[in-house]
Amino acid sequence: MTGEPTRAEAVRAELLVLGAGPGGYTAAFRAADLGKQVVLVERYPTLGGVCLNVGCIPSKALLHLSALVAEAKAAAAHGIEFGEPRIDIAKLRSFKADVVGNLTSGLAGLAKRRKVQVLRGNGRFEGPNRLVVEPVESDEGTVTVEFEHAIIAAGSRSVELADFPHDDERVMDSTDALELSEIPERLLVVGGGIIGLEMASVFHGLGSKVTLVELLDQLLPGVDPDLVKPLRKIVDGRYERILLGTKVSAVKARKRALRVTFEGPDALAADDFDRVLVAVGRRANGDRIDAEAAGVAVDDRGVVSVDAQQRTNVPHIFAVGDIVGEPMLAHKATHEAKVAAEVIAGRKVAFDARTIPSVAYTDPEVAWMGLSESDAKQQGVEIRKVSFPWAASGRALGNGRSEGHTKLILAAADGRLLGAGVVGPHAGELISELVVALELGADAEDIALSIHPHPTLSETVAMAAELAQGTITDLMPPRR
Ligand code: NAD
Repeated sequence: MTGEPTRAEAVRAELLVLGAGPGGYTAAFRAADLGKQVVLVERYPTLGGVCLNVGCIPSKALLHLSALVAEAKAAAAHGIEFGEPRIDIAKLRSFKADVVGNLTSGLAGLAKRRKVQVLRGNGRFEGPNRLVVEPVESDEGTVTVEFEHAIIAAGSRSVELADFPHDDERVMDSTDALELSEIPERLLVVGGGIIGLEMASVFHGLGSKVTLVELLDQLLPGVDPDLVKPLRKIVDGRYERILLGTKVSAVKARKRALRVTFEGPDALAADDFDRVLVAVGRRANGDRIDAEAAGVAVDDRGVVSVDAQQRTNVPHIFAVGDIVGEPMLAHKATHEAKVAAEVIAGRKVAFDARTIPSVAYTDPEVAWMGLSESDAKQQGVEIRKVSFPWAASGRALGNGRSEGHTKLILAAADGRLLGAGVVGPHAGELISELVVALELGADAEDIALSIHPHPTLSETVAMAAELAQGTITDLMPPRR
């Protein structure tokens, strides 16, 4: 805990923020910038929450390295051979720790400059205006915070599967896996969502033989199948096996390995793995903060419901980030955090973003925003879809990566952009332009007539729009 000597007496706060992940620290900092006196409560010794300490950021550092390995291997086919990589796991860990350390110490500095008081401990409500902060270390006391307003940003946790030996250190969640205590020879990844796919990519790059099991019949369920196909093709060649429509029926901890049995049409015979990574979703932490003592309603999924101003059912208590439900994304949390802080500071604002983009930082990356094709079908929206193949992009060919495509979903009536999807390296960077276009109400003509630099992957966005306009000259002429 910092900010002594506060353990003994009650601390007063104009604004209490519970949780210092991207949602919590953003809310605290924005409110402080608007003149509020802020107390920020966090159980970890550093700020940044799961995302910065044990999630988004360390995983991206490792994904960067595993992409290097894959690229070096692929270069052999184009005339440059590097040989087998030699992996120094201690150096890898310290690179990852440096990246995280840099950011968390930066945040501590930002909190200090804003005079945000940080209290370390587990926070739980004791009343509508009172929170107790219980010690994490045994030598610290308990502190009570009396607050006028509160923002709950207490995040989420990995879902555990019943009957899995989660106490065995070889059964990992994403936090355990990112510790990189060893590189397993054979790894089973349970869950073909974003976390499962990203972690499979990391461990494959580091030399593990990966088997991936997904309960539903597609990787990244819910994402348009044409965006997932190029990813599937590449990982098919890399992983030992990908089992769709399959369930892990049991994991038995044996001395030398984890014995796993499968259920489903393609189920294999029981097999042994050195480690199992479980990435089957996250659960909101609403059930861990005694919210009922403050009168805040929490549903049976641990989710706290909020209105467009991020207000819970208790008017002076707000909530942001994973704890208010899907999508559980840091960039959604930070946006909501600013709304909550500004409303508390008296501004008339609300969460009115037209879309929250998603990115799977796999190889290739998959990114999407706005209306998907499947949404359009379900909602009966008349759309026109155009898709520009990266095989016709000079830049993608030069990168040796022509498997991608850039897809626009346009309103059938007037060509207005309703949604988009990109698959290919750097798709996560390309999607932002399309988010801005959607927010500004752009149509295909606006995008096609905005000059994009040549030769870039971003050109594929303009070319997809030209395809819609019938003005494209980089593909066959439109049929007359
Ligand atoms: P997810 O819900 O995205 O994926 C979980 C997958 O596991 C699903 O495809 C589901 O069908 C499958 N599954 C469920 N039970 C299973 C079982 N018993 N056996 C096999 N498969 C099973 O969840 P996640 O990947 O764990 O991610 C959690 C959250 O974190 C998500 O909200 C995600 O958006 C977020 N996240 C985002 C990023 C990013 O933006 N790049 C990265 C990491 C996490």
